[in-house]
Amino acid sequence: MTSDGAPLLGIDIGGTKLAVAVSTAEGEVLAAQREPSRAEDGPDAMIGRAVGMARRVVAEAGLGVTDIDAIGIGCGGPLDPWRGVILNALNNPGWTNVPLVERIQAELDRPTFLDNDANAAALGEHRFGAGRGVRNMVYLTISTGVGGGLILDDRLYHGENGNAGELGHISVRVAGGRPCHCGSIGCIETYCSGTNIAARAREALERGEGATSALAERPADELRAEHVVAAARDGDALACAIWDETTELLGGGIVSIIHAFNPQLVILGGGVTRAGEMLFEPVRRVVADRAMPWLSEAVTIVPAELGEHTGVLGAVAVAQERMSMIERTHG
Ligand SMILES: [Zn+2]
Repeated sequence: MTSDGAPLLGIDIGGTKLAVAVSTAEGEVLAAQREPSRAEDGPDAMIGRAVGMARRVVAEAGLGVTDIDAIGIGCGGPLDPWRGVILNALNNPGWTNVPLVERIQAELDRPTFLDNDANAAALGEHRFGAGRGVRNMVYLTISTGVGGGLILDDRLYHGENGNAGELGHISVRVAGGRPCHCGSIGCIETYCSGTNIAARAREALERGEGATSALAERPADELRAEHVVAAARDGDALACAIWDETTELLGGGIVSIIHAFNPQLVILGGGVTRAGEMLFEPVRRVVADRAMPWLSEAVTIVPAELGEHTGVLGAVAVAQERMSMIERTHG
């Protein structure tokens, strides 16, 4: 069992990269590999490559597959964490009703568990990163999309069918809000994801705003969130307007999250948070201004700590969480 320190395997299946690692029970990475996911190849090819990578990292760590205590997988949802089935991964074409846990278990023959990538990252930060020792915390990843995970009373909160924590789809602007692929409007994701920060800049330029902006000098299809951040840092008026709206709406979303869950910690991770204090300072200010004082005084908003190993250590933490649930059930 995980408590004796046996190594674990983490598999992170993303829209852009496939990552696999062996770690100790304490989250020390013993061996890791990553490669582009080539999602267009479809699930069979991706699962085959993940299994191959798993065998290689286990060997690289000087172990055999039978030395591995359990395998955790993090993948984009929606999915059924209890049956281990990917229902319809939005970022990976062809992943409809894929029994991922069964497939991996058939190849590697170790106890295998699945959760969505944001829940996995939340568990990883809780066990190994910024959330160690924290009883109530919220994790938000602000990346190509915006995902979330809730650790409540020291446990990952799954909700009724395993899909709780879709915090990126909290509406922060209803009247005139941007339509979201989830079916709602004005979601945090439609303003604050890297994809949508860039899209909002492109749309503003198309409307003829910011003709003198540094953003107008770049071909529209090459414009990315990091360019908006860099231009805002230089005081570019259009970039500042877009960035201010981004942090204002993200802060507003976090106020709602704090009101709902009264966390001690909000951890922000994902590529967009590389903006650093340019993101954290205004978000903290919105929370201080707008959240109920007894809730805002209880919370700290900090950057994620796991960095490049977030996905695989999150997956490892999924395996540990589920093994400990089994231990609690079967005593
Ligand atoms: Zn949405």
